[in-house]
Amino acid sequence: MTSRARWAGVLRTPVGAAAAVLLGAVLLLAVLAPLLWGGRADEVDTARILQPASAQHWAGTDNLGRDIFFRVLVATRTSVQLALLATALGVAVGLLLGTAPLLLGPRLGRLVTAAVNIAVAFPGLLLALSFAVIFGAGASGAVPAIGLAIAPGFARLTQTLSATVAGRDFVAAARIAGVGRFRVLLRHVLPNIAEPLLVNATMAAGGSLLAFAGLSFLGLGVQAPGYDWGRLLGEGLNGIYLNPAAALVPGVAVVLAGLAFNLVGEAAAKAVGPRTPTGTVRGDSFEDGPPAPVDRTGQSEAVLVVEDLKVSFGTVTPVRGVGFTLRRGEAVGIVGESGSGKSLTALAVAQLIEQPGRVAARRLDFLGDDLLRTPPRARPRLLGTSLAMVFQDPTTSFNPVQRIGRQLAEVAEQHLGDRRGPALARAVDRLRAVRIPGAARRARQFPHEFSGGMRQRAMIGMGLMGEPKLIIADEPTTALDVTVQRQVLALLAAVRAADDVAMLLISHDIGVVEQVCDRVLVMYAGRIVEDLPAAQLRDGARHPYTRALLGAVPDLATDRDQPLVVIPGRPADPAAPPPGCAFAPRCPLADDHCVRADPALLDDGLGGRVACWHAGELPEPVRAGAAVLSAATEGEGR
Ligand code: SF4
Repeated sequence: MTSRARWAGVLRTPVGAAAAVLLGAVLLLAVLAPLLWGGRADEVDTARILQPASAQHWAGTDNLGRDIFFRVLVATRTSVQLALLATALGVAVGLLLGTAPLLLGPRLGRLVTAAVNIAVAFPGLLLALSFAVIFGAGASGAVPAIGLAIAPGFARLTQTLSATVAGRDFVAAARIAGVGRFRVLLRHVLPNIAEPLLVNATMAAGGSLLAFAGLSFLGLGVQAPGYDWGRLLGEGLNGIYLNPAAALVPGVAVVLAGLAFNLVGEAAAKAVGPRTPTGTVRGDSFEDGPPAPVDRTGQSEAVLVVEDLKVSFGTVTPVRGVGFTLRRGEAVGIVGESGSGKSLTALAVAQLIEQPGRVAARRLDFLGDDLLRTPPRARPRLLGTSLAMVFQDPTTSFNPVQRIGRQLAEVAEQHLGDRRGPALARAVDRLRAVRIPGAARRARQFPHEFSGGMRQRAMIGMGLMGEPKLIIADEPTTALDVTVQRQVLALLAAVRAADDVAMLLISHDIGVVEQVCDRVLVMYAGRIVEDLPAAQLRDGARHPYTRALLGAVPDLATDRDQPLVVIPGRPADPAAPPPGCAFAPRCPLADDHCVRADPALLDDGLGGRVACWHAGELPEPVRAGAAVLSAATEGEGR
């Protein structure tokens, strides 16, 4: 669904419509009221001092005989203006503090994070009051006071969001390519977190409106002869027994305006996020050659056909021509060290590469449809119910403030057109299917009430809300302990067996892939270097890198007193891959030919493919010296 369509859809909901009407009215009043009624609001009439509400003065008059109703209308501009100013200041300071850890590096960044955490621990109103006392009474003191009170919460949100984005592969690729921190922030991080920040800023504007009214009410905000709603409220409360309307009208104005901003924030949240995996398609597709004719011969069972897939970020291409086919019911694992391009390959297949990433392929067919030539509007229909994505960390995949059942039901509502009741019933059924005990009760719980393994099962359940033909599981068990890991893998295997679903499992753990998959693709420096049946992995691996990966996996016979077996050297730099075989600098078999010429991935005649000039020349697994295993690097990211 396009952004415009989402907004149009939200505006048709009761919340969206109420938000638009209320905010429109508030802004209109802010602009027009001082022009239309400024004179009447300031008109002193000593003959009508402290009059109660009447047909002539709807909210009565104040101690100078001025009409309170008109004063409330005119005060809209000052109240909204000051609230927006304070919010802008809070957002600016929050952004600076929130992005500081990315710009300043780990040591200084930790200091800033600690300071923000301490500030967040104080209630906002207490902070605002303290700052107001420091800056002095009056609007010029209240604006920075409220702005600085908002800033820590906004900074925390920015830190969390930017840390999430900063951990993604495309940011890692940009960093490896030597892109500076500031540029990474501007080009890669901020554009990807702008939407939730905007939503939060809108809600913060509602909060600062209330906070401003509070400070003015306490005499710390707008000073006479100026006035805003808080000040009018305070004056009205002094004579509440004589004229309740004098306090009621500004009170209602504060509540309605605060409500308007909060509803707008809520409507914006619905319009811009959270999206299902298919909804976050933001990457451009590009062509680097004429499309090859699609040959479907012998591929009627093919769920996914990938040919010459490339993923680029500017001049860096971390995925450089990957090709494989995934058939119905087949499980294929992709293994490799950090930076090998395995997760980017999965994200490209799921159409989840975000700007400024670009995806190109000679062919990228899902269930017979060419994903790269499918218009973005049609992709949700194509992928929405047929592709399930299981992410590494289910904590970040669920909206923490929505009940699990509601989040699952949303998928059925969006993609299957189910109504609320049936969608929720289906959600409970799917939770039951992924063996969550007490599914109906659990559906009413929030994500934080689930354990890690249960959240991951719920994530798989979310994938089953449609009728998936392909499950992409990106390191689905990395964050789990060994027992839960086995349960989740068994569940994925059961789902696959029950519905003949194909599975693409991304993992740095070659042992896990060997257990679960039919076939293994080994990736190095953005390419597949070996493709072989999982059953042949131990004895039939022919590429030195595959054998090195296998040799680096400790088993029960491993002598724990000896250093871990490791692959020497560092993975290839995606920004400057070596001209010949990318593994040559680390390969014990490398010769001059390897350094000059890049081997193609060719059928090995044994049911697999391998890219190596000396494939199969090693009789034993490589035991490569004493450098420290890339297990360290594997844990760092994908
Ligand atoms: S081509 Fe040469 S350098 Fe590359 S993996 Fe094979 S033997 Fe090693």
